[in-house]
Amino acid sequence: MKSLRARDVSFLSEAGHWMYGFIEELYPICRSITGEGVRETLRRIAQHIPIEFHEVPTGIQAFDWTVPMEWNIRDAYIRNGAGERVVDFRKSNLHILNYSIPFRGTVPLETLRKHLFTLPEKPDYIPYRTSYYQQNWGFCVSQRHAETLREAEYEVCIDTELKDGSLTYGECFLQGATDQEVLISCHICHPSLCNDNLSGIALVTWLARHMQGKSLRYSYRFLFIPGTIGAIVWLRSNENITAKIRHGLVIAGVGDPGKPTYKKSRRSNAEIDRTVLHVLRERGSEFSVREFTPYGYDERQYCSPGFDLPMGALSRTPHGTYPEYHTSADDLNLVRPEYLADSLSISLAVIEILEKNSLYTNLCPKCEPQLGKRGIYRAIGGHPDAGKQEMALLWVLNMSDGKHSILDIVERSGMTFTQLREAADLLLENGLLKKFDT
Ligand code: ZN
Repeated sequence: MKSLRARDVSFLSEAGHWMYGFIEELYPICRSITGEGVRETLRRIAQHIPIEFHEVPTGIQAFDWTVPMEWNIRDAYIRNGAGERVVDFRKSNLHILNYSIPFRGTVPLETLRKHLFTLPEKPDYIPYRTSYYQQNWGFCVSQRHAETLREAEYEVCIDTELKDGSLTYGECFLQGATDQEVLISCHICHPSLCNDNLSGIALVTWLARHMQGKSLRYSYRFLFIPGTIGAIVWLRSNENITAKIRHGLVIAGVGDPGKPTYKKSRRSNAEIDRTVLHVLRERGSEFSVREFTPYGYDERQYCSPGFDLPMGALSRTPHGTYPEYHTSADDLNLVRPEYLADSLSISLAVIEILEKNSLYTNLCPKCEPQLGKRGIYRAIGGHPDAGKQEMALLWVLNMSDGKHSILDIVERSGMTFTQLREAADLLLENGLLKKFDT
């Protein structure tokens, strides 16, 4: 697992550019909770990692929810009397009310206005609006754009289709040494929005691609699913798997300039919560931590009381709190390679700790073992931080009673995970420790 750790700046910078490039590629696709946009996105992801496609038919019951009709769009526009497209889906897929029912007709401005969505407080942005569970048609335009429409008759064309079809999601599974799993989930249901959905997709794809073929302790399941209904459908079909999930992360909104934010799992003190907190503290830069709330991304479903999975959520600026959120300004200028890379480095450090956090038993627990006669002091003598390494040895020896993991010792001693893990490895080599778990 050594190669998972992102120590090197050029490695991270390259990864940041790769993720940004992938966002650029996926940006034009019109996604929704069902339909060809999701399939096309998954096909692009599948060029990098092994993805299993799942199609869940319309009408399937998932707990209290039903898989909706599949939605697809070919074109949509509003044309004036001169035949000009004054609102054109081909210019921005945010112009269509996502899940809009088909409509064709000529309507006066007064009627049209009832189907136009704007954001008067952010007059230059096109809002992103959906109408998944309520049949409606409409367009989203900037307030300034709406103001240019004059009293007249307009030709409206919404060439969409709602039919019995299926909901599509993708899953990438990497088998580790144990069947115990780490679940990493991102949503793939937003159209041209970069931070909200594409940043998560790009980061999770990069992670899966990087971890493929590595020797892993846990098995990793990466989910690319439509928000809410996708997570609910996945949980319905995989209830038997949930018992194997030891840790998990929802990854979304990880490409903007804000500081990293971690939202704890419903359990609040799960190993994933403690691990992410340790990683964020160790970095020495600003971050924020929030307690669980039953709102946000798909942690709402994974952490519903019937599942209560140990899953937190990693993002940068929390959803809904940045001005570009759910608007056309969540574009290729808002996300930057360096912020994607920074979020990735957190994810990698978290995975590294999950992989290496073990319990040990001290095989010489009655009084301190004599380290000098075993050459252990000599072994750490050349270490740049020999004094600290000696303390790390003593901490690991003292706390390793089969009940305290390395992460427990981190919290108790104030030392870093790396220091303690190195000490444990040295003690293991010298026959003073025994690994307690897998
Ligand atoms: Zn969103």
